[in-house]
Amino acid sequence: MATTTPRMKITYATLSADNEELQSAFDAAVERARGELGKAYPMIIGDEERHRDETFEDRSPIDRDIVVSRFPVGTRQDVRDAVAAAREAFPSWRDLGWRRRIELMRRAADLISERQFDHAAQMSFEVGKNRLEALGDVEETADLLRYYSDEMERNEGFSRPMGSLSPTEKTRSVLKPHGVWAVISPFNFPMALAGGPAAGAMIAGNTVVLKPSSDAPLMAYRFGEALRDAGVPAGVFNLVTGPGETVGAELQENPGIDGMVFTGSYEVGMKLYTGFTRDYPRPIITEMGGKNPAIVTANADLDEAAEGVMRSAFGFDGQKCSANSRVYVERGVAHEFVDRLVERARSISVGDPTRRDSWMGPVINEGALRKFTDAVDEARRDGGAIEAGGEVLRDDDTGRGYFPTPTVVTGLPLEHRLFRDELFVPFLVVGEVDSLDEALRHANATPYGLTAGIFSRDQSEVQRFLDTIQAGVVYVNRRAGATTGAWPGIQSFGGWKGSGSSGKSGLGPYYVQQFMREQSQTVIGDETGSDGE
Ligand code: NAD
Repeated sequence: MATTTPRMKITYATLSADNEELQSAFDAAVERARGELGKAYPMIIGDEERHRDETFEDRSPIDRDIVVSRFPVGTRQDVRDAVAAAREAFPSWRDLGWRRRIELMRRAADLISERQFDHAAQMSFEVGKNRLEALGDVEETADLLRYYSDEMERNEGFSRPMGSLSPTEKTRSVLKPHGVWAVISPFNFPMALAGGPAAGAMIAGNTVVLKPSSDAPLMAYRFGEALRDAGVPAGVFNLVTGPGETVGAELQENPGIDGMVFTGSYEVGMKLYTGFTRDYPRPIITEMGGKNPAIVTANADLDEAAEGVMRSAFGFDGQKCSANSRVYVERGVAHEFVDRLVERARSISVGDPTRRDSWMGPVINEGALRKFTDAVDEARRDGGAIEAGGEVLRDDDTGRGYFPTPTVVTGLPLEHRLFRDELFVPFLVVGEVDSLDEALRHANATPYGLTAGIFSRDQSEVQRFLDTIQAGVVYVNRRAGATTGAWPGIQSFGGWKGSGSSGKSGLGPYYVQQFMREQSQTVIGDETGSDGE
């Protein structure tokens, strides 16, 4: 496949890409991606590329007549075979040593970066991300591999000498891999959230069976390809595609799985979390949904607030787990804030995201579009004012896809379910409050606790927010995104309460350790002892 070297590092905080070279490289990659549409891909089980007679179509949300790829409908037997392959590969992967493992992961990261444009163009077809968002997703994947490798190195493989109670005694604390981890990933960061968790597990010395979202299997396959091309041995990474109800369920039940990392909705995550324990506890990390608030006080720079909220509410159609879906604004500045926000929302260009001028593309599928139209109807019925959007585009370009418009709603009671339930569509509710404390009370009054933001120039307000808000990722006065845009090694990313189970975040310094268990080694009288390998 042709590749193009990126000339500019794209992150989620990159505001624009007026770089002609970059744009024409993307145009060329879109054309190449068109040529790849409709192909059939296999599952990856050990050293086998496994096809099945029964396949499912991965259709584009841009136009449902476009089949992006075809993948096998995996069975429970495929999962069992993948688990067996992963178990067989585990001892030699563990014994290879962390230095060699991170060498391979860094090589895979470089391959992903080299292929960034091709991957991003395919991702744009597969899930409807715009150019910058898709380029960001691919580069985030590569940086996750790099950052987790760096962490392993910084901690010298997590083997450290401890104190000693006698001169003849040598003690160490050693973190060791568990064995085989299941990775279940969502559609919305189809490469970063398949690749990141899988990389965490593999760098730690585990082997992996990945089940991606059926809305985005191609990006997971591309990740597997990069590992293979980098020289990661067969069986270390296995890919089984198919429904959550069979493939996912077998991963949950299979006794050959030693740990699980899931990213997706609260409903599925909680089911897995409560059902994963077998004869004894097995580690499970669940990263789940959010209903992420932004607070705008009377001391905010309203322009900055409107821009930051607009970017986080409508970037990738509100389909980021960190998307800003509710705003609490102080009454005195509410009118002006909403005016500025609405002006921005109305100027967003919605359309085919493979094109340069589209900032917002489609939502992922028909179910998501229905959620959007139902929410608009419900808001109207319950006395809300649709200040912007509320429509679905149905012209020649958009009629075969799922294109809602960026929607801002005011006037609903703050207890309304639209302030509480995650919708995962470009639908933002704005409510007025009398004080920062009232805003914080409402902000914290949901089962979720993923991201949150505040706009205020008053230091004591900012401090009160930082002291009180219940969320794993918080931002202050961030024009580039009120609640979104975390990057590996910069913002750790994980949820509190119903948004995440572990209290240790992805993208951060406590992640890789979660895929290992501690062994205390006390050795009397000689020099043996493990150095973590
Ligand atoms: P989803 O929960 O519908 O699906 C996630 C994965 O679980 C998919 O691979 C799916 O096939 C699988 N699955 C479904 N039913 C299953 C079952 N019974 N057993 C095992 N696996 C099953 O989520 P989605 O729609 O793909 O993604 C959007 C959701 O993910 C949102 O709620 C979003 O907030 C959340 N999310 C959270 C984070 C985070 O870091 N906290 C990041 C991204 C997305």
